[in-house]
Amino acid sequence: MNFKITLLPGDGIGPEVVGEAVRVLEIISSKYEHSFNFQERLMGGCSIDQFGQSVTDETLADCKASDAVLLGAVGGPKWDDPKAKDRPERGLLALRKGLAVFANLRPVKVHPALIDASPLKPEKLKDVDILVVRELTGGLYFGQPKLREMKDGHERAVDTLEYFDYEIKRVVELAFNLAKSRKKKVTSVDKANILESSRMWRQIATQIGTENPDVELDHMLVDTASMRLITAPVSMDVIVTENMFGDILTDEASVLAGSMGMLPSASLGESGVGLPHEARVGLYEPIHGSAPDIAGKGIANPIGTILSSALMLRYSFKLEAEAAVIENAVYQTITEGARTADLGGKLSTRQMADEIIKNI
Ligand code: NAD
Repeated sequence: MNFKITLLPGDGIGPEVVGEAVRVLEIISSKYEHSFNFQERLMGGCSIDQFGQSVTDETLADCKASDAVLLGAVGGPKWDDPKAKDRPERGLLALRKGLAVFANLRPVKVHPALIDASPLKPEKLKDVDILVVRELTGGLYFGQPKLREMKDGHERAVDTLEYFDYEIKRVVELAFNLAKSRKKKVTSVDKANILESSRMWRQIATQIGTENPDVELDHMLVDTASMRLITAPVSMDVIVTENMFGDILTDEASVLAGSMGMLPSASLGESGVGLPHEARVGLYEPIHGSAPDIAGKGIANPIGTILSSALMLRYSFKLEAEAAVIENAVYQTITEGARTADLGGKLSTRQMADEIIKNI
């Protein structure tokens, strides 16, 4: 089969980890006789340097015209000036909005051999297998007005938390669909004791729960959820939540897996997993940032990005067997003891990918 993949390596360790995922995909393409056509574009700080914009219309159009997008990470101290006209993260938000990828799937599994890499007690981590479904194109990160102004002699800043019913419905329905092929349990996370948007979220989730009696639904306040993730992570299966809560909870969940560098993500649009129509362009990226502290040293863990490419094969290309081959190779490689520095080992980014490729 023939697929066009846009690569957005981005900044910091982004190009280092995306380069290794491409090597893995090339092995898969030759082994299973698929053709992956890669086109590379600038996004983030590197695009600001080159074009004065974190993402250009041309890059957005190229992404939309491809079958899937693989992103590294964006940002870094060089582009951190709060007064700057454009910021790398704006490009990321524009890309998510432009591709209409409203659901971000972040699987968190704890490899038995990495239990010691997590600061949590080993007995808490056994059999942890969580899928966080984060709403990605609404809420506080996108709501208008968003502004800074002078008022009554004081500087004032405003962000707006806004949700439409259909935005909540589609992401919660997706979570229910995904739960059906797992342990059939959805935890909907909100702040319904305080926020109006959360009260609407809970009402819609309850309605969808009634329509799907085969899936167990519970509601949890975000503060409780952040505690439960650490005290009893094994009790959770699919978590669905709004944009900012999901952003924070998934970073917290990464601690369970031993390192930020381990976790992949898939961002899907209207026709994602479990829904009948064909998949549109999916966006795949590790959950970590550009890690300026280790950028250029060749020591970043490439696993989050390599596993993101496996999610691309599964969700955008429907190549389940090939996706599983990559995931099993990563599992096997960790089992054999291969470790980058974040996991307490000495392997470079390239050497870690070499070990994974040997297991494909
Ligand atoms: P970060 O995820 O970049 O790094 C946090 C810590 O985890 C650092 O110590 C880093 O070295 C380590 N780490 C991250 N990925 C790793 C990997 N693959 N292998 C080994 N260690 C890894 O978060 P940060 O330091 O808060 O942010 C740095 C920059 O990245 C900022 O500019 C931020 O805005 C940006 N950022 C971008 C994204 C994205 O592109 N999606 C996400 C988060 C942060």
